[in-house]
Order: sequence, then structure tokens, then C-alpha cells
Amino acid sequence: MAYSSKAKDFYAGELQGMKDKGIFKEERFIQSPQAASIKVEFPKGAEPKQVLNFCANNYLGLSSHPEVVKAAHEALDSRGYGLSSVRFICGTQDIHNELEIKMSEFLGMEGTCLFPSCMEANAGLFDVVLTPEDAMISDRLVHASIVDGLKLCKAQMFNYKHNSMSHLEEKLQEAQSCRLRMIITDGVFSMDGDIAPLDKICDLADKYDAMVMVDDSHATGFIGKTGRGTHEYHNVMKRVDIITTTFGKGLGGATGGSVSGPKEIAEMCRQRARPYLFSNTMPPAVVAGSLKVLEILSKSTDRRDKLEKNTTYWRAGLTKAGFDLKQGDTPIVPVMLYNAKLAQDIARDLYHEGIYVTGFFFPVVAQGQARIRTQISAGHEMEHLDKALAAFTKIGQKYGILGLKKDEIIAKYGL
Ligand SMILES: *Cc1c(COP(=O)(O)O)cnc(C)c1O
Repeated sequence: MAYSSKAKDFYAGELQGMKDKGIFKEERFIQSPQAASIKVEFPKGAEPKQVLNFCANNYLGLSSHPEVVKAAHEALDSRGYGLSSVRFICGTQDIHNELEIKMSEFLGMEGTCLFPSCMEANAGLFDVVLTPEDAMISDRLVHASIVDGLKLCKAQMFNYKHNSMSHLEEKLQEAQSCRLRMIITDGVFSMDGDIAPLDKICDLADKYDAMVMVDDSHATGFIGKTGRGTHEYHNVMKRVDIITTTFGKGLGGATGGSVSGPKEIAEMCRQRARPYLFSNTMPPAVVAGSLKVLEILSKSTDRRDKLEKNTTYWRAGLTKAGFDLKQGDTPIVPVMLYNAKLAQDIARDLYHEGIYVTGFFFPVVAQGQARIRTQISAGHEMEHLDKALAAFTKIGQKYGILGLKKDEIIAKYGL
């Protein structure tokens, strides 16, 4: 047998090491649809418990929306369960094409190419549009899927300090001899919930002749006054060249991703992007659900407006209680705890209070930056927010961290 005791002992040791450090991630089993209130089995075998969910990317509360579910049901009947093919062989239905058109309209772009996920959109894009003669200039905190996508591309790599426009400008100058330049950033950064300064980025792109690519996975559907994303928020809707995003978060939360941009770039992805060519197509029910989501969001801004109101209330409540928050303008509200074990312990205690949140720590965030990332949804009602604020306050008191600043929390709990 090739799985030797040497291999087994190595892996077992690694896993035990994670447990000893208190950073082993335990799965919790949800026994209901995804929503603001969910039924969870944790730990395995325990009596299931109804808890309020504050860690889903279900920003618009559409994951289990009856109209979306109905559209998916109808597509199961009319288009079947799976296509058993990649897009270019026989995995493209009329509804895939329709979703590409509707997505382009929603984002204000010329063309769209669907992918099985945004991870795969990012894995495919760069290698298709940039060569060793070109430059990719990325923010240092871009999402892991972009990091991986950049590794798959042979263009010259530059990166700039997070959201630092002076550093970006330096890198653009360094890359002036390259044929094409692309500035690459998240729209909303998922761990801190801060927004890239796309207006300034577009100014620099004009000055130094660079394309702008934005991954708007944590923005599409709700950032900006009609929810088109960070390019709308910063009033640069015609100035961002390429947007990748996911159908797996605010837009219903099933699965799927896209690259939108100039029609040549969408077409290049169709011709050459490896995840498009070699990974299965989005299932029909998900495509139909996504179409319904875009229809709902194009008709009214009620959901993103409610999300904004909920977020303001939540931030104000946690601030008043004395938590140390990352400041920002998005429904990602990180409660900073710095110590990984403290983040885990508080998350566990909150669960027993009926609030489902997760502790984040290295390598998901930098060392010493452990936190509980709370995420607000249009599916939350005022009573949910009030109940969660009361639970956070109770547990914050238990650990004696209310009103403490960064240095004080670190002095008390270490890193
Ligand atoms: C979640 C996320 C992705 C991955 O999206 P999937 O469709 O789940 O693969 C990519 N980029 C960013 C910025 C994300 O937050």
C-alpha cells in the first residue's frame, strides 16, 4: 500500500497541530435552506438548533427567495437537471445565452462569458488576455482566486500596497515598457469590507494607458445606488474595462461566475479560457434562478436599500456596545479580536446564544488580524439584529473586551 505509515503520520501530525493551535476548522451542518434563520446541527450528532445567520454571503436575502426557487423548478422541468457537457461542445442552452446578455446589461458591459464559478473566471481570464509582453499590476490583498489566476498567466507581475494610489502609480511607471497593462483589484475586499478607490484607479489607468479589471463578487447586486457594483458606487461605470463576479453570493448564492467586458474579451474567454473549455457548464436550474434574480434586482432597489439600512443599524449597534470594528461602507462588518483562539471562542459562545458567526484567522487573514466577520443581509429583520446585538454584548462582557482598543485586546489575550 502506497499510503505508508510515514504519510499517515505526517498528515495526522499536521491536523493535530491545527487542533492544538485552536485553528482547526469544524464544519457545521445546516438542515434548512440558507436564510437569516437556519437550523444547524453542531457538533455532529447534537440536537439541531435554530440560529440567526450572520456569516452568509446572502446579502440580498435571495438564496431561498420563492420566485427564484420557482424559476429554478420550472427550468428543471423545461431544461432538465444537467447538461453533461462543457459550454462549447453541447453545454450551452438558450438560457445561458440569455443570462450572458442580461448580465452585460446589468453591469453596463458589452459582453459576458459565463464560467462554472468566479474562481474559475479568475483562473481563466488573465492567461487568455495577457502575454509575457504585458503587465498585470494587482492590489496586494486581492482574493485568493485572483492570486491563483495570476500564477497561471505568464505576464509580468507587479503588485501595489493595498489601496495605495501612489504605489500603484510607481508600478504603472515601472511597467510602461510593457505592451499592455492591466490594473487588477477586488471591488469590495472580502475580509475588511473596504472598497477599492476605482475613481482614482481609473484616472491612473487613463494617465498610464492601462486596462482596469475588478472582481466585484462582494458587490454585484447591492453596492452603488442601483446595486450594479463598485463601478456604480464610484461613478465610473463606463471606465472599468473588465468585471468578474459570482452568482454564488448576493445574486442568489447557488453557483456560477462571469467575465464581463468589451466584446472581444468575452469572445477571447469563449475561445481560450481553460475553465470555460474544460469544466462543466452552469446547470439550467441555476441559470434560470440567476435570470430571475437579475429581473428582481432590475425592477426595484428595495432589497439593496433594506440591506443598507440594516447595515447602518448593525454598525451603529456594535459600535455603541464597544466593539472594535473595521470601518467601512459595506455589509461586511468585521469585529476585530486579533487573537485566533479568542475569535474561535467567541464564535462558539455566540452560537450557544443562537447567533451563527465564524472566527477568521491566519491564513484567511494576516497573522494577528483574527476577527469575526459579520455579514448583514436584506433577509435580516430588526428583531434579528436586536437579538444578535444583545448576544454580542453579553459575550463581549464575558470576555471583558467591550470598549477596548486594539492594543488593549492584544495586551489581554496576546496574539
Ligand atoms: C467568493 C469570491 C470568489 C469566488 O467565487 P465562486 O463563484 O464561489 O468561485 C472570487 N472572488 C472574490 C473576490 C470572492 O469574494
